[in-house]
Amino acid sequence: MKESGLVLYEDTFLSVSLGTSCNVEFDFFKIWQFKKDLEKLKEEFDPSLLRFYHVHPSGFLHYSETDLNCISGLNKAFGYPVHFSILTFENGDLDYLGCNYVSYQYINKKMKEIGTITLDKKYLSLLKILSYEDIFYGDLK
Ligand SMILES: [Zn+2]
Repeated sequence: MKESGLVLYEDTFLSVSLGTSCNVEFDFFKIWQFKKDLEKLKEEFDPSLLRFYHVHPSGFLHYSETDLNCISGLNKAFGYPVHFSILTFENGDLDYLGCNYVSYQYINKKMKEIGTITLDKKYLSLLKILSYEDIFYGDLK
């Protein structure tokens, strides 16, 4: 199982990434590029529309110390607040998308649970395949 990650800006897909067994990576460059492109179009970049999703192993819905550092860094890089969601799938069956998730904002150096930001099925499928399908291991970054 790998901790895959997904980044959306509102409903716009920005990037998907494959972490290692206990670490997620997001594609900062793509997000940064998207922000710059928006600014070139004289459109305002709103950090609260940035949504980071990351998959934990089944049963580990709670955030880690690494997650805390990660969201704090994301706030520094892209502004405040961004949304950070942790998602766990109920099993490893690729045909089944049953899952749990919790969404957070980082407020006063603490993780604050906010209402779950639901994720479209196509993104759930993508994350599930990346996290659980062996064929991608080592091929994607
Ligand atoms: Zn995590």
